[in-house]
Amino acid sequence: MDGTGKVWLAGAGPGDAGLLTVRTRELIEAADIIVYDALISAEILSLIPPGKEVVNVGKRSGHHLVPQHEINEILLKEAQKGRKVLRLKGGDPFVFGRGGEELELLAEHRIPFEIVPGITSATAVPAYAGIPVTHRTYASSLHIITGHPRQGGTDTIDYASLVKMKGTLVFLMGITSMEVILNGLMDAGLDRDTPAAVIENGTLFGQRRVISVVDRLAEDAGKAGIRPPAVIIVGDVCALSDRFHWAEDRPLGGRQILVTRPRQSSSVLAGKLRTLGAQVIELPSIATRAISPNTALQRAIKQFGNRAAQEWLLFTSPAGVRIFFEQLAEFKMDIRHILCGSAQVKVGAIGSATERELKGYGLLADVVPDVYCAARLGEAVAAQAKPGSKVTVARALYGSEELLPPLLQAGLDVDDIPLYETVYETHEQVKDKIVTLFEQGGIDAVTFTSASTVKGFVHTMERLDYHKIRAICIGEQTAAEAEKYRMDISVAKEASIESMTECILDNLGIRGR
Ligand code: SAH
Repeated sequence: MDGTGKVWLAGAGPGDAGLLTVRTRELIEAADIIVYDALISAEILSLIPPGKEVVNVGKRSGHHLVPQHEINEILLKEAQKGRKVLRLKGGDPFVFGRGGEELELLAEHRIPFEIVPGITSATAVPAYAGIPVTHRTYASSLHIITGHPRQGGTDTIDYASLVKMKGTLVFLMGITSMEVILNGLMDAGLDRDTPAAVIENGTLFGQRRVISVVDRLAEDAGKAGIRPPAVIIVGDVCALSDRFHWAEDRPLGGRQILVTRPRQSSSVLAGKLRTLGAQVIELPSIATRAISPNTALQRAIKQFGNRAAQEWLLFTSPAGVRIFFEQLAEFKMDIRHILCGSAQVKVGAIGSATERELKGYGLLADVVPDVYCAARLGEAVAAQAKPGSKVTVARALYGSEELLPPLLQAGLDVDDIPLYETVYETHEQVKDKIVTLFEQGGIDAVTFTSASTVKGFVHTMERLDYHKIRAICIGEQTAAEAEKYRMDISVAKEASIESMTECILDNLGIRGR
């Protein structure tokens, strides 16, 4: 660190992680500390790298809210330590975000800062409800108004001017004073039949839309039980929502899914679910730590290919394949050391992801069981191996106990070599938020792609009512682990991401609603 800290005052958008700017996304990676508000969604918090220092200055319940002057002090103090401080705010930092106030102290102390504008809820939330705020036929201006004027209670909105301008009106922070606002507009002469809308949790999994007219909106919203955060929109453009609504019509629109996975593997599943309209919290629940230097592996590879007429090499995860070849490179060896002996070399993979990873290293698996399962891999190899073959199992420390028995029963000579350990991740930065979401029924399903992701999840989320969790499992072994916690289980037909996605669509998709 060069001694001079800096503050980035950045907008995180209205909640959907897809609406983060590229710049803010970069800063989430690069910052030393992140100071964030109540409105930052779990989906966005889950993008924060593990171990990064975070400060939540906006606990929602109200009583814990950190006062503004203290937030200003935190930013100043951290920057003075020479740190890169990301101040992450909902929407755009300058649209009713008190961004200006947070800069005053920094400017006074000559702390360098940058502003990263964000997508404001004032336009994004109507957009996600199919309301084009300045459709030319209906409106030629847009007014963004706080429903919570500063003087605390004294209503300072100039209704007469707003009505006169005939533009689209968007009220933020207006839910508690909705009736006062709407009456104010009508008293100032606004036609009682003017279309009006209120959108709750816009762009998020729980987005709800109430489309009405000024005269009846408060009542309709009350009946629907609308609660903050929500925006109120007044103007003819609101009537277009009935034709242009789209967000909740996506196959998984309105759904929130928690995707667990090993940290090192990319989440193809999360991408697919987002494409289908779901909000996705990514929670890498386990990480792999290579055993390095791996002398047992080195010894085995040196002799490999010369210990029997046929030698088998079995892999039970993509991580195992990757680490195997990384270790090989560390020993200054390559694929030739495996293939150049006198033995016929056969390769087995537990499932399609492992098979794919092997392909990337130029090896086509000879055996992949039809079901992703350690016992099935053992049985398949036992059935095909020549008597007296040598089988090297390259896998995790404490791997499944079901793999070896079929091999040993077939009289094969088995060498079980641990390549890596599985460690659990803790996720302090999102844990509380996720627990609250579970308690409120805000997470529709959790996906598990291995028994160890179940173990990792339970290890992190130790305070939950597991039986309320809808678990989408990739296969029987994974399901058996989830069963231990009495989760509500569905198993994909095949051990593939496509099949997991289908299973989620069957359970939660719009076609089944
Ligand atoms: N700077 C923020 C606004 C902060 S004021 C922005 O540019 O969006 C907080 C108000 O924003 C809330 O009371 C609500 O009216 C609105 N808001 C923020 N996120 C929202 C969301 N996802 N859905 C609906 N309203 C939202």
